[in-house]
Amino acid sequence: MPPRGTGRGRGRGRGRGKAPAAPAPPSRSPTPSEVESVISSSDDEQEETSSAPEFSPAARSVITGSETPTPSAPSTPTPSGPTSLAGLRRALTGGVRKKNRPLRPVAYLRHVAWCMHCFRTFLENWDTSGPPVIPCWDDGLSSKRCRQCASRNKNCEPVNEGILGDAMRLQCILDWAKPFWDNEDDNEVFDLDNAVFGDLVQAVQALLAGFNVLLDGHRKQFGIASDKKPAKDIAKSYEAVVHNRRGLLQPIPVTVGMSSLRRLVAEASTYPGARLSDDGYHAWAFAVRTFRSAVVEIVASQEKYDNLSNPQYDQLEADVVKDFPVEDYLV
Ligand SMILES: [Zn+2]
Ligand SMILES: [Zn+2]
Repeated sequence: MPPRGTGRGRGRGRGRGKAPAAPAPPSRSPTPSEVESVISSSDDEQEETSSAPEFSPAARSVITGSETPTPSAPSTPTPSGPTSLAGLRRALTGGVRKKNRPLRPVAYLRHVAWCMHCFRTFLENWDTSGPPVIPCWDDGLSSKRCRQCASRNKNCEPVNEGILGDAMRLQCILDWAKPFWDNEDDNEVFDLDNAVFGDLVQAVQALLAGFNVLLDGHRKQFGIASDKKPAKDIAKSYEAVVHNRRGLLQPIPVTVGMSSLRRLVAEASTYPGARLSDDGYHAWAFAVRTFRSAVVEIVASQEKYDNLSNPQYDQLEADVVKDFPVEDYLV
């Protein structure tokens, strides 16, 4: 009895929105919910016309209060006046340097390669009526920055390679949990009451927070800053760490007929991951196990499972554990 089946249906009375289509592996065609027309969005045009950190309507829903950029104030020309053509242009345009950022015809959701800026924005501002999807959009034709980072004039903050496998496993868990938000008309109804739904939301948030602890601990331990290039010696020693972790990988083979989620699980197994001795490892491992336990409780709380005997509960738990996309982390 996989929770994918048991988790389908509607949460009556909560007014939750429609869930996006099926989980998206990195190499398959994007679903409509993961592709956004850029051409039709005048907000994007506004956002991309300047490299100054202007407030972007397109990014408004994902910008946190503490990080809201303030519009740049017009600069005052020096008393002696501009002495170059560029200076004259700056004086005439109020100091805002115009720079076009060519956009893709469509924007793609960075499904498994989200940047940590968008991750944290999501952690703080998730609209829980929708499924847990980290809103990191790739819309630049040649720019490496995601939409939000471009609008804030920041560089993206990728997950460090030494724990990239864990980031992908986190994505696998989020994809696996999406059906709990499935609001499509369906014969199967998974009716979570508000309290149980609140537990699910908390479990997801704790999971994300656990990954954040792992990332911070990993960076501190190996002396790598968030978005700055590390010193040569630090970069070299970190590369050795990553190299060592690559040697420990035990990739899961991809087989014909595997679901997209299982292919993503297999893909994750080809990337380096956290080690037991990593700072933050235990917080992350605990968060994963706690999330899985919470799901067992949530599934068992369905009316049809009322009055489960102990052996039946054990079987239900075993089924959920078997279907869970991430293997046990040692704790
Ligand atoms: Zn992003
Ligand atoms: Zn970014």
